[in-house]
Amino acid sequence: MSIFSQFGVRTIINASGPVTRLSGAILSDAVRESMRQAGRDSVNMEELQAAASRRIAEVTGAGAGLVTAGASAALTLGTAAILCKNDVARMARLPDTTGFPNEFLIARDQRNGYDRAAALAGAKLVDVGHSDWLSGAGVRGVEPADYEQAISPATAGILYVLREGASPTLAELVPLARRHHLPILVDAAASLPPRSNLRDLASRGASLVTFSGGKAIGGPQNTGILCGERSLVQSAAVQMLDMDEHPTLWSPPEDFIDRKLFPAPPRQGIGRGFKVAKEQVIGLLVALEHFANGPSGEFVGEISRRLEAMARPLRAADIECRIVMPATNEKSPWLELILKDQDAFDVCRRLRAGEPPIFVGHGRLREGVLVVCLDAVRPDHDEAMTSRFLAELGGKRSSTRT
Ligand SMILES: *Cc1c(COP(=O)(O)O)cnc(C)c1O
Repeated sequence: MSIFSQFGVRTIINASGPVTRLSGAILSDAVRESMRQAGRDSVNMEELQAAASRRIAEVTGAGAGLVTAGASAALTLGTAAILCKNDVARMARLPDTTGFPNEFLIARDQRNGYDRAAALAGAKLVDVGHSDWLSGAGVRGVEPADYEQAISPATAGILYVLREGASPTLAELVPLARRHHLPILVDAAASLPPRSNLRDLASRGASLVTFSGGKAIGGPQNTGILCGERSLVQSAAVQMLDMDEHPTLWSPPEDFIDRKLFPAPPRQGIGRGFKVAKEQVIGLLVALEHFANGPSGEFVGEISRRLEAMARPLRAADIECRIVMPATNEKSPWLELILKDQDAFDVCRRLRAGEPPIFVGHGRLREGVLVVCLDAVRPDHDEAMTSRFLAELGGKRSSTRT
């Protein structure tokens, strides 16, 4: 019996991957148990985040790190850090940025629904360049020169969304940013795997990097990581942590927050609403440890075997499906169900409404394709899911039913 049933909430099979609206990843036994234990004791949150910073620094190669309330909060806090550095008067004013540099340059084709998180801190996003090859109007993407032309005394930093095939690449942008002393905040929320991104980005010149803790890392759904240059992470930390401490008593861990830089403790910062509980910090750290050091091939191999087992009876019932193997062996394969005569939206609706409710990937419904991702599906749900597909997709078995 699920705890959710006590509150009248149905549990679902989430075949869409660890997406937020469907409650993210399934937590491993180790992560769940670590969170249970964390809830039994009290700690000083500055000491806990300082310890998290050391762990994140080890794993990422960055100077420091902070566990945030998701990558979106990390974007807001990273922006706030770049806007304020360690200037307490600026921190006290955010999101009002009148009178100091507040513009963040972003390639026009990188604009997305999450960039409001940067604007939330008070930054003004300035679109640069055009992608002519994306629009089919030419051969050039956004180029470093497009950024260069937009730099002014009002420029505070660069927001860069990491994506394979993006133009310019991070490597192409870094020399320009260095020349103009502009920090680069990299949104890598969805860029794991490959695991190499976890370690590489700081050394490749990103000043701050955000990762989602609740996606591939497999941590609690509302966690994220902000990592990068120590002084910037420090600025983000004091703008997030609860600052209701007596000035004469405030003594945060020195390697995390250098007390001498602050004439007085900052007031509650712009990130105060993004607080992270001790259970989440611990859960994220345990998940991160596993993600960084665990054998990734094993997970992918297991997913392949499960998909094969699901595809066999579907094929036998004449349901067209294919297993797609991504180019990298770090990403798990997925199953595509190809509909012939049925409306994909209708099938999706029925799958959601039935028992057990199934939420498949909905990115390709217009093509008549249902995408089944097992990253957030418990293995003991595979059979029930296969039966529902057989029943709903009009295979041999369902024709005996109707
Ligand atoms: C998911 C995502 C985010 C937000 O991450 P959360 O951890 O859910 O806050 C930000 N940017 C991109 C590109 C994402 O895919």
